[in-house]
Amino acid sequence: CGIVGYIGNIDSKEILLKGLEKLEYRGYDSAGIAVKNENGVHVFKEKGRIADLRAIVDLDVMANIGIGHTRWATHGVPSQVNSHPHQSASGRFTLVHNGVIENYDLLKREYLTDVSFVSETDTEVIVQMIELFVQDGLEVVEAFRKTLTLIHGSYALALLDARDNETIYVAKNKSPLLVGLGDGFNVVASDAMAMLQVTDQYVELMDKEIVIVTKDEVTIQNLNGEVINRSPYKAELDA
Ligand code: GLU
Repeated sequence: CGIVGYIGNIDSKEILLKGLEKLEYRGYDSAGIAVKNENGVHVFKEKGRIADLRAIVDLDVMANIGIGHTRWATHGVPSQVNSHPHQSASGRFTLVHNGVIENYDLLKREYLTDVSFVSETDTEVIVQMIELFVQDGLEVVEAFRKTLTLIHGSYALALLDARDNETIYVAKNKSPLLVGLGDGFNVVASDAMAMLQVTDQYVELMDKEIVIVTKDEVTIQNLNGEVINRSPYKAELDA
């Protein structure tokens, strides 16, 4: 399973799909991408191979921001509906997740009894909570932070906000995730190999950091909102 993301000046679809193909070795049962342009967020996902996903991606949708996922099902059978990305009830937030949220059922009962769920995944709880906290009045980054303090378990996350053309929100805990730096673009990947096609400069992330990724900037914060400076390293692998 794995995660990729791209934000920059060119169409993201092929970069995401190639990235997911580089992560195929990690094993998966489903795959999906969500790309965002001025018309909104477009989700393509399918049970099966990346080739099956490629077959359903609409090549006419051009979008400079996107996230992608290969799923190794832990909660909910492998199916199109349980594949990632998952969206919040209003469709505003779109999330990919690798890992397991151990207290998802408790959180669902405590916070989300009014929400009708589409999938059987633990992941959907995360994206619904982010939307709930934003509806309660929090800024997106605050809602993301609050959600991270409530979920227990392992995660690598990448989040899109349909109302924001500039940002991918990222976080990890006990699951791998890196941010890759480019000139006029930035990327996200579970493994540098996925994005060596576009950059060899990577920034390591620590558990429970939030990263705000735009095409020109990468801002790492801890859960107190303090900004953390960290230098990139050069990934020396064969692409
Ligand atoms: N627990 C999530 C699910 O079952 C994510 C699995 C994964 O790591 O791919 O959908």
